[in-house]
Order: sequence, then C-alpha cells, then structure tokens
Amino acid sequence: MSDFQQTDTGEVPGIVVTGASGRMGQMLIRLILTDDRVRLAGALERDGHAWIGRDIGEAMGGQPAGVLVSDDPVTTIARAQAVIDFTAPTATAGFAELTAQARAVHVVGTTGLDAEDLAKLSAAARHAPIIRAGNMSLGVNLLAGLTRKVAAALGEDWDIEIVEAHHRMKVDAPSGTALMLGQAAAEGRGAALDDLRTPAREGITGAREAGRIGFSAVRGGDIVGEHDVIFAGTGERLILRHVATDRAIFARGAIRAALWGQDKDPGEYDMADVLGLT
Ligand code: NAP
Repeated sequence: MSDFQQTDTGEVPGIVVTGASGRMGQMLIRLILTDDRVRLAGALERDGHAWIGRDIGEAMGGQPAGVLVSDDPVTTIARAQAVIDFTAPTATAGFAELTAQARAVHVVGTTGLDAEDLAKLSAAARHAPIIRAGNMSLGVNLLAGLTRKVAAALGEDWDIEIVEAHHRMKVDAPSGTALMLGQAAAEGRGAALDDLRTPAREGITGAREAGRIGFSAVRGGDIVGEHDVIFAGTGERLILRHVATDRAIFARGAIRAALWGQDKDPGEYDMADVLGLT
C-alpha cells in the first residue's frame, strides 16, 4: 500500500486539514493517512487553488486517498471531530467560527495572529476546545518550561536574548515560538512580555536596558526552525537551544492535540496542557 492510502480506520476521530497543499498541510495529511487513531475527514484549500476537486493523495504525488480537496469549509468542517489548521491569521479566525459551530476541536498552529484574530478565537472557544501553540513540538514546550525556571532563578543582571532562524519562505517575525519563549522568560521574571519586549535592533540604539527581552530573526534556505534563549551574564553565558530538523514533530504534536481535545470542555488550551507540563 502507498504511504498516502488511508488505512482501515473504523470509528476514530475524523480530522479536517486546512491549507492542505502547504508545507505543514501535506505533512499532516501524510501522517493522518498512516495513523490508525485518526482518519482524514477532509482537505481544504482556498477557492481557485489548482488542487480543488482532486484526490489529495494523487495531488501529493501518491495513490488515491479517497478524499477530494475542497474549497467549501462550511460543509467540510461540519463533518469533522477536529480541524488541524496551519494556514494564515485571517483564515484561522474564520475557521475558528466554523469549527466551533461543528463543536469540533480546533488545533491552531498558525502564527502571527493579532489581537483581533485572538479575540475571534476566544469567542469561538466558548463553544468548543481550541488548542493553540506557536510550536507543537515536545522539545520546544519543554524548553519553554526551562526558560521560565532559568529566568526566575537569574536576576536582571543576566540579559535575555532570543535568536531564531527559519527558512526563506517564512512570512512573520519574530516566530511564534520565539514569542512563546519570550512569554515564558517574562513569566519567570514576573512580568508581561509586552512590558519587556525589545524588537530587532538597528542603528544607534543606545546601550541595552536592564531587564529587557531582545528578539532577533535569521531567514534563509530551508531551515526548519532553530531557537536559542541566551542568558548573558558578566563573565559567563547560558544558552538553551532547540533545533528542529523535521516538520513531522509539529504535525505529530498537532495530531496528539486533536486526540487529547476530544473529551475536553470548551475553552482555550495550549501544548503544555496537552503534554501535561502545566
Ligand atoms: P505554507 O507552506 O505557506 O502553507 C500555508 C497553507 O495555508 C497554504 O496551503 C495556503 O494556501 C493556505 N492558506 C494561506 N492563506 C489562506 C487563506 N486565507 N485561506 C485558506 N488557506 C490559506 O506555510 P507552512 O510552513 O505550512 O506554515 C503555515 C503556518 O503554520 C504559518 O503560520 C507557520 O508559522 C505555522 N507553523 C506553526 C508551527 C507550530 O508548531 N505551531 C510549525 C510550523 C509552521 P495557498 O498556497 O493557496 O496560499
């Protein structure tokens, strides 16, 4: 059997994947089609996309999977027990409403959401569970916990800088993961990230202000995702680093979240909840 053919699934949660042709969309579909705990209930793409109406397995270059790519989120999401969504902020805000109407679990990997998008997700979470994380991997979620602890243990004379690197196609900066790590560092310092955040520097910036959390981004090639949390003291430096080499780590985390959410009450959750790290 081909990698893309759906295994016999029985009564397992049906998952709809949005952005089916995207880097994460294709990775998710590959893993769902070979995972007995879930079944692929739908694959969504934008109106006008070349894959609409095609079998998703064939569109991805494999054998038929028995699921046609659709541009109709209303009908497709109505038959889902979970929607896994790695697309773009405005698309995700719209999918949140439809997923809540279907009382399905919405797993949100999309990054770069603004306050308005987040408010729409909060409204939807009154009706169904939403699990959102800037990074769905076990390693990064552990790193966030370590960052919180180290930031709490070290005083303001240890400067915190977050440096991230991603592939050349990434459209937002800092990465969702960098912000998640910044949030963890700020929590460790007993403050809100918005009060401590220093964006990428350029020009005559003046000396570094104590207690701030700095961000910088590298973009290039096919880098999957690298994050360093640097604690720079006087005469010594501590660097916590996560390197992702395979997008499958995010997709596996998202499927785990979709399964975890099946019996959960409506509300907003993150991967620390899913992984039992809270
Ligand atoms: P990508 O390859 O560009 O895929 C994005 C997909 O979403 C494409 O299929 C795109 O369709 C679709 N899309 C974009 N805007 C849309 C809209 N308005 N309506 C419907 N579909 C739309 O990007 P990617 O690398 O897979 O990443 C997607 C998102 O996931 C980004 O926000 C990224 O930062 C995030 N991400 C999160 C994690 C995590 O663990 N949380 C990990 C990796 C990536 P078109 O081709 O038609 O534009």
